[in-house]
Amino acid sequence: MKICHLSAECMPFAKTGGLGDVAAALPRAQWAAGDDVEVWLPFHHSAAEWYRRRQSWPELGCAPFRVELLGQSYEVGILRGQLPASQVPVYFVAHDPFFHRGPIYAADATGRDDGLWRFTLFVRAAVAAMKHLGRRPQILHCHDWHPALAPMLGAWSSYRDRWFDEVASVLTIHNLHHQGAYEPSLFPALGLPAETAPLVHHHGAVNLLKGALVAADMITTVSPTYAWEIQTREGGQGLDELLRARGDRLTGILNGIDPSEWDPAVDPHLLARYSAADLTGKAQCRRALCEAAGFAADDPGLILGAIGRLTEQKGFDVLLDAVPRLLAEGTRIVMLGSGDPALERRMLDYAAAHPGRFRAWLGYDEARAHGIEAGADSFIMPSRFEPCGLNQMYSLAYGTPPIVRHTGGLADTVIGYHGHNLDRANGFSFYDLTADAIAGTVAWARSALASGAWPQLVQNAMRADFSWRRSAELYGQVYRQARSHRGLPF
Ligand code: ADP
Repeated sequence: MKICHLSAECMPFAKTGGLGDVAAALPRAQWAAGDDVEVWLPFHHSAAEWYRRRQSWPELGCAPFRVELLGQSYEVGILRGQLPASQVPVYFVAHDPFFHRGPIYAADATGRDDGLWRFTLFVRAAVAAMKHLGRRPQILHCHDWHPALAPMLGAWSSYRDRWFDEVASVLTIHNLHHQGAYEPSLFPALGLPAETAPLVHHHGAVNLLKGALVAADMITTVSPTYAWEIQTREGGQGLDELLRARGDRLTGILNGIDPSEWDPAVDPHLLARYSAADLTGKAQCRRALCEAAGFAADDPGLILGAIGRLTEQKGFDVLLDAVPRLLAEGTRIVMLGSGDPALERRMLDYAAAHPGRFRAWLGYDEARAHGIEAGADSFIMPSRFEPCGLNQMYSLAYGTPPIVRHTGGLADTVIGYHGHNLDRANGFSFYDLTADAIAGTVAWARSALASGAWPQLVQNAMRADFSWRRSAELYGQVYRQARSHRGLPF
């Protein structure tokens, strides 16, 4: 099938979170399966830097052209590169005043959030270039709110623009929290028929994600449980009613993990490599982690790892509330992350008060993340919500049974051990986001570590299949559904 992905992020050119990983790994898996697939993304500053570091530059995709938005004309360049470790073409939409900024989602020079303009230009330029290059896809696969205009153009412009007649659209929600909500007066900038304004307006704002949820032929999100949660009032972030109405077009597909990055048998970041058949290397990684953290290697206390963005979503505030009790009961903790300064300060305070039992690393450190996943006994994710989550899948692959709150993708990947399911269990789950629930579940994990159950939990964890091949097949089914809803062949 001929597929075009539209995304604001794609590794290694631009990434702030899981979206960047998926927008690279899924196309790569589709290419490996024989699909004709390409990725379109803005030519961010970080992409230019990536090429400069390699002393190379993407080739010209087509001659520069102009795009009109609300009477203003913008010159756009199209560059063509390639996704590493594949032959997937990557088309970059270049317009420096919009995309050549430090952080990907930075405001303009005056501090204004001009995201609606930036991503409208991105979508309009991408569609214009696809037409120019004669590259009409069978599936336009849009990720999150940034390219949300594309499904709307496809659904509501087709009686004016026949190009979309044979294009079906799929929208993937990576995180419903981000919706692209802007002042209602900006609607005309989208260039949609005026009568469609009510379809895009939501609670007094232009809401780009909402418009795409109405327009897309199929909607996916990144885990089956999250697909259900976002249809509830509690998890719907104000869009649950619409999501329920479109429930027959909505499905959840788990992300995969990239085995070239996350496989303990070949991981170059590890001091020693290992597999389910021979875990000697894992014991060496544990010793290396103890040394890096300043912990005594012969202390049998459970070593608990935690990694992530320090935001409300991840529930680290509650984990930190539980820390005194966890340490008093013999658990040792390593945490890696950055974000909320108040949480960073609490981490540093614990580290200062409990050397040898609590270690905090602030910042983003890929190598350290690998070392923690391999060296810790268990890994904790107390997320308030978690659309899919990658770290628990890395933990499973690394034989580090995770302790998770039973939500979203965590609920779909971790089977909590309850004493009678050792044939399947691969970690531990809790429901209430309280310090008591965390402390109780960690105590339960400690007793499992001391009992004979642990080796089986580790084996079960390492058996799980989170390959992208599997996810890509499921996306293929969604694409066929999207085209059949349109009455199109596939
Ligand atoms: P989200 O996309 O919500 O941030 P995920 O668990 O889906 O959460 O993915 C987060 C990714 O970012 C993982 O690959 C994780 O290892 C990585 N990561 C997050 N924070 C850090 C950090 N401080 N250092 C290294 N890697 C990090």
